[in-house]
Amino acid sequence: MQIGPVVAPNRFFQVPHCNTLGHARPYAEAANRAIKAEGGWGVICTQEVEIHPSADISPSIEGRIWDDRDIPQHQLMTEAVHEHGALAGIELCYNASHAPNLYSRIAPMAPSSKVVHGNHPLQARAMTKRDIADVRRWHVEAAKRARTAGYDIVYIYAGHDMSLLQHFFKPQYNQRSDEYGGSLENRVRLSKEILTDVREAVGDTCAIAFRFATDELLGADGLQWESEGRDIVGMLAEIPDLWDVNISGWDNDSATARFEPNEGYQEPYTAFVKSLTSKPVVGVGRFTSADSMVSQIKRGVLDLIGAARPSIADPFLPNKIDEGRIEDIRECIGCNICVAQDMMAVPIRCTQNPTQGEEWKQGWHPERIEPAVSDDAVLVVGAGPAGLEAALQLANRGYSVALAEAAQTLGGRINRESELPGLSSYARVRDYREYQLSQKTNVEIYRDNSLTADDVIALEIPHVLIATGSHWRNDGTGRHHAFPISGIDGVAVLTPDDALGGAEIGGRVLIYDDDHYFMGSTLAERFRQQGHAVCLVTPESVVAQWTVNTLEQRKIQARLLDLEVDIRVSQEILEVSPGEVRIANVYSNRLQSLVEFDTLVMVTSRAPDDALYQSLLAHEASLQTLRAIGDCHAPSTVAAAVYDGHSAARHLQSGEDVYAPLFVRDMPALD
Ligand code: ADP
Ligand code: SF4
Repeated sequence: MQIGPVVAPNRFFQVPHCNTLGHARPYAEAANRAIKAEGGWGVICTQEVEIHPSADISPSIEGRIWDDRDIPQHQLMTEAVHEHGALAGIELCYNASHAPNLYSRIAPMAPSSKVVHGNHPLQARAMTKRDIADVRRWHVEAAKRARTAGYDIVYIYAGHDMSLLQHFFKPQYNQRSDEYGGSLENRVRLSKEILTDVREAVGDTCAIAFRFATDELLGADGLQWESEGRDIVGMLAEIPDLWDVNISGWDNDSATARFEPNEGYQEPYTAFVKSLTSKPVVGVGRFTSADSMVSQIKRGVLDLIGAARPSIADPFLPNKIDEGRIEDIRECIGCNICVAQDMMAVPIRCTQNPTQGEEWKQGWHPERIEPAVSDDAVLVVGAGPAGLEAALQLANRGYSVALAEAAQTLGGRINRESELPGLSSYARVRDYREYQLSQKTNVEIYRDNSLTADDVIALEIPHVLIATGSHWRNDGTGRHHAFPISGIDGVAVLTPDDALGGAEIGGRVLIYDDDHYFMGSTLAERFRQQGHAVCLVTPESVVAQWTVNTLEQRKIQARLLDLEVDIRVSQEILEVSPGEVRIANVYSNRLQSLVEFDTLVMVTSRAPDDALYQSLLAHEASLQTLRAIGDCHAPSTVAAAVYDGHSAARHLQSGEDVYAPLFVRDMPALD
């Protein structure tokens, strides 16, 4: 497909997405992007790339092209991508009041004086005409460096309620009275100038893309923009070579499956763009199925299928479609664990693809694995995420694998959790692996087989991985309570396992959420759907506090309020008695009250189900490998369990200590 002066080899387009490798880890960045080019994506883009220290988005670690010294690390990426025949795109970003400049310490700039995002106690200053001229020049200089670095597509960025150019569009940010403020034509002026400047500078060799949020559902700052997206597209229609369109803020663009369950969820907001421009349009919508992709093209919604998360979960998605291996696609589950890593400023990981972010660091490839080093058999006990992944990768290596599972169904915790409201796509973690295992001739699966230590020893299999999972505690022990809560052992308390396992639920349900991820709030939703009165008590100051990282927290709290859940934040349980708990404000023990319940559900912490592993330790001498993996090793996320299972399979008989610093690191060069 022709995009300005360059040609994309196909319509699979990895749109810019962060991975927190970037300027701090350039080798890892290049390897991460190159694998996707190898997997068939025709265009591979960077993440946001800062063009100047006056818009420095630290502590986020994305790309940088501040001056010529940054060029060589970008060349690592472009050369690696070109080797596989893909185009390389760079997203130049100037984030202004979304960039607090915590590293550069330069006062941020914005169209008008404005507090910066993120509750930092600092404000951006209003830009002068000279600043505007500088920002234009910095874009041109960065674009020239990008061309030198070998990029084929240069992005100008106006999205996610982050970019300066989008803030010029929005009256909430732009209250200028000069020719850059007021009328829409004035507010669009700077984007038009920069697009034109950059085209003049590099447009003969590089395609110019405009990444634009056509609509904004609710801004990161809570401000709703009365969208003028249609008018803006009309004004700039033919200026860029490519329109990359999405919705704003980031929580809407990267909506989780819990809030946007369907592929193509952005279509209602972006479909109009093609009617206003003759230039190609790329857009996203967590596309993982070939049918929905083809439908977008055939119906004239998009020209190129954009993907961030589907390309993270399966870097080889295009090749699999090309080869007719649809059932081998490892579909994104829409959990935003990948986003959470970026929010925490650490390298990307993925629930479905444990090799993500490990391509250079550990040399892991999503489709290839080291062959077995012996003809030994391996026993994996437990078929949750950890056991399934370990069994699959061991089978891929060529070991003969016995997978024993106590239950009739494979999947472990996934079977329960995918029943929760909005989490049905989490079943893909199970389904992908169960199908792949069913295709192997070197795997025997033993369902309904709860193994004891004697059973394991009797099998005489030399390598044993124990993946028996964990269970929720019912005594309140968790973050706020190092010891069981007073009075709790005299009261019938349910755990999430009980509640999801069919336990009888009384009329008024009290959920104590000291876990702060999805369990407490999804249970609250489920109980409300079943008609129960629900009170959710949490020691944190917001509901599901950790989901700030998955961009879900505001939506979760809004949903629970809509469902009329009685939310009690900053409250801990002091004492439990039959039918009643005494709660206290976590900041002032003076503020206490009583809450009545018929059913009390404790969502606090989990205990590893490691009894089998512990008993096998006595027989360790008779086994070549004995390892606990996943939740029975240390209860954590599904992503961590899948990773642990994968890592155990990779390391089997490697002779390496899994706890040693096995991986290579990007190190700062010392002159
Ligand atoms: P993880 O997230 O670590 O994979 P899960 O809790 O999801 O853990 O899965 C653990 C699985 O192990 C469950 O399906 C459970 O039925 C199974 N299991 C637990 N103990 C045994 C055992 N002794 N023998 C076989 N399977 C077991
Ligand atoms: Fe998809 Fe979750 Fe992987 Fe992100 S972490 S790509 S949302 S499966």
